[in-house]
Amino acid sequence: MIVVMEPGATEAQIEQVIARLHAFGFDVHRSSGVNQTVLGAIGVQPDFDVRQIKVLDGVAEVYRVTTPYKFVSRAWRREKSVFEVAGVRIGGPEVVVIAGPCSVESEEQIFRTAAFVAEQGATFLRGGAFKPRTSPYAFQGLGEAGLRLMRQACDAYGLGMITEVLDVSQVELVGRYTDIFQVGARNMQNFPLLRELGRTEKPVFLKRGLAATIEEWLMAAEYIMASGNPRIILCERGIRTFETATRNTLDLSAIPTVQKLSHLPVFADPSHGTGLRDRVIPMARAAVAAGADGLIIEVHPNPEEARSDGPQSLYFEQFAELMHQVRLIAQAIGRTVAERSPSSVRM
Ligand code: PEP
Ligand code: MN
Repeated sequence: MIVVMEPGATEAQIEQVIARLHAFGFDVHRSSGVNQTVLGAIGVQPDFDVRQIKVLDGVAEVYRVTTPYKFVSRAWRREKSVFEVAGVRIGGPEVVVIAGPCSVESEEQIFRTAAFVAEQGATFLRGGAFKPRTSPYAFQGLGEAGLRLMRQACDAYGLGMITEVLDVSQVELVGRYTDIFQVGARNMQNFPLLRELGRTEKPVFLKRGLAATIEEWLMAAEYIMASGNPRIILCERGIRTFETATRNTLDLSAIPTVQKLSHLPVFADPSHGTGLRDRVIPMARAAVAAGADGLIIEVHPNPEEARSDGPQSLYFEQFAELMHQVRLIAQAIGRTVAERSPSSVRM
């Protein structure tokens, strides 16, 4: 339930409403703007008569929140969430591009990739040091050595860093290196992990689960936000459908749908969404046209030799072409993409 106080409601009136809500058994989360206060009353009480709050002095409106999520909803926060991380604004007019290999493999691979994607206008470097692989025999990532290489490459080329954290036990270690924690599709409902990340200071990039509905995805984000961390980026990365022609089905309709339901920024991952490199550029264009706040793209200096996800990783020339095309689409809808920055290259 959301209680909107009248503009100019007094502190005493606000406190009286909070006291009444507590007495009725609600937890209260207060959000005060310049001249208006909004109270979020948490605690499902299907029979609660909202008039008991409506009649109190200073109350302008009381809304029942019918969705099971609250903090991530548009009802809780009307305007889009915009926040800055590693000097980049997320959720604003700029379409933010994250690029890099699926896995960090070597110093040469990550530095060459960082140099190239930075030059093309990407602002974050991606790369897994801990990999969630379907097979226990597949390459599992370089671990801390991979985190260290990524951090060095990001610092050398002025990029922000995003990398996956697989488990609660890795949060502290990964947090020492990364700017953004990535929660992979397979971990979207790892509730202890979501809670733990909710207690950290760094933004969380929450990928949609392979078989998750939009509501389940937003409930996963709610875990993070309810634990205290409001800086969440949602990422549509394709879902399982009956279709087998592509690795997953990139659900682009999820982008405007989520933007209607939630204030959180939404990115798209056409690499995992299609699984095939020749589908990545068209779907990146489409995602930006659909309103995505950013893209995450797999790029590799030598995709044939990639230790994971080679078939969906772009060649450098393809990434340059993607950036060119995405810039045109962004411009057509009144958005921007960071400039190419040859000066950042220190190869
Ligand atoms: C990845 O980003 O490399 C990855 C494993 O993604 P997802 O969790 O979406 O499969
Ligand atoms: Mn991958």
